[in-house]
Amino acid sequence: MPQLGFGVWQVPDDEAYNSVTTAIEAGYRSIDTARIYDNEKGTGRAIADSGVAREDIFLTTKLWNDDQGYDKALKAFDASLERLGTEYVDLYLIHWPTPARDTYVDTWKALERIHAEGRAKAIGVSNFTARTLERLVGEAEVVPAINQIELHPYFSQPGMRAANAAEGVLTEAWSPLGQGKGLLEDPILVELGAKHGKSAAQVVLRWHLQLGNVVIPKSVTPSRIRENFDVFDFELTAEDVDRIGSLDRDGRIGPDPDTLN
Ligand code: NAD
Repeated sequence: MPQLGFGVWQVPDDEAYNSVTTAIEAGYRSIDTARIYDNEKGTGRAIADSGVAREDIFLTTKLWNDDQGYDKALKAFDASLERLGTEYVDLYLIHWPTPARDTYVDTWKALERIHAEGRAKAIGVSNFTARTLERLVGEAEVVPAINQIELHPYFSQPGMRAANAAEGVLTEAWSPLGQGKGLLEDPILVELGAKHGKSAAQVVLRWHLQLGNVVIPKSVTPSRIRENFDVFDFELTAEDVDRIGSLDRDGRIGPDPDTLN
């Protein structure tokens, strides 16, 4: 899986077509969508029209909460493949654990079957906590390849990164730029950008890469799509990485996975 990919949350289907087209032209080879984003069709069409071979693109989609449960998950997966217009995905994720439903273990068994059939080359989870991940791994035959969680300098989740690593699960960062908002004006990030001749966004993405996170920034602006991919020609020092780490605070933007259903 490429460590740097492209996300399309909150991008309408036709705009997703344009954004994914621009992203692939810019060099991205990993695309992150989901059933609930309502843009699997545009995303799939952009990949098909890109001129890049399907096997050279890493495509992720996710199972929505209402589709949890063994039978429903199998059907939801078929519908996602149909919308994406592809024979397989590279990664299929359970979008949220929704612990109150208590269906994620059954759901996982469906993902294991899809994986065994070769229709998802890898399977994983998203928004799993230490507790839900530990239970899943205890009952699973296939350990989730990855856990995609909210992670950015204002919410850097050292505990959850360690919990993933302890289970042999990769950490993938969603909202890696903290959704733009105030984060990219943080004086430390601006200062580090000036030091390296890069933008604050590029500094944040470089920090993720050096921590070992898989990262999927989103933009619909072509210049920013390209900017966010231009992060392989500089390196943060250990001190820079520590300074960004020191920004950690209770900066969660999205829902709490323990209570979202
Ligand atoms: P993000 O952190 O990638 O921020 C995106 C926003 O930051 C853009 O809309 C823009 O306003 C700004 N931005 C982007 N590049 C910039 C640049 N170079 N300079 C200045 N501003 C810039 O936020 P996101 O979209 O929430 O997260 C990225 C992806 O993560 C999503 O598209 C989706 O694929 C995934 N995601 C997954 C979940 C989940 O529950 N699994 C939840 C949210 C997002």
